[in-house]
Amino acid sequence: MTLPPTLPPTLPPTLPPTLPLGILIERAHAAIAGHAEGLTKLDQAIGDGDHGSNMKRGFDAILAEKATLEALPPSDALHKAGTILVMKVGGAAGPLYGSLLMGMGAALKEGADAAGVLDAGIAKVKARGKADAGAKTMLDVLIPVGEALKAGADPAKLRATAERARDATRDMVATRGRASFLGKRSKGHVDPGAASSCLLTLAVLDALGDAPGEPA
Ligand code: ADP
Ligand code: MG
Repeated sequence: MTLPPTLPPTLPPTLPPTLPLGILIERAHAAIAGHAEGLTKLDQAIGDGDHGSNMKRGFDAILAEKATLEALPPSDALHKAGTILVMKVGGAAGPLYGSLLMGMGAALKEGADAAGVLDAGIAKVKARGKADAGAKTMLDVLIPVGEALKAGADPAKLRATAERARDATRDMVATRGRASFLGKRSKGHVDPGAASSCLLTLAVLDALGDAPGEPA
């Protein structure tokens, strides 16, 4: 009887073992850098006008570390990118996006699938910011996208979900973050963090090769 050849080490069955990290970094950076002014404008309306510059500083730093990040296993790269965001973005969004990526990295290491990875990141954001859906924050995009992913939505549906969720923050009254200081006057403006989360969602989908008509 012939013995089977040595089996390869088992890999998480759900996400590709080699995420296109370089492309992910480039797309995320381009999305944020290309919309920094718009994000800042949104933050001028209901915050202190720094969200675009904060996020651009963070993603510039991630892009500068692209080679190092690409050489890491994806779970470690997510963790390291998260620490870069905590250090460089600052404000409220830095620790929150940092928590998102670190939570995602930890779940990826445990072998979670894409929905599980995003879910774990969202749980960290909720815990860090003591917020949930409906507070007019980045969570109002991340949560619906996570739910759509869990429900098996295709990339087009995920895009539409992110964009609709971003736009839906316009009618919300902020109860967390700087915009909550405005109370009801926060209504009528899209939340800057929801806008950046939407941009990042679309960038990730682009990077994974699902952009209609766009090469990955
Ligand atoms: P800061 O408010 O410190 O100036 P930014 O302008 O960079 O920081 O980020 C503001 C964004 O952070 C908001 O638009 C909102 O989406 C998000 N945010 C603020 N507080 C929270 C929170 N507690 N939970 C989740 N997201 C939050
Ligand atoms: Mg701000």
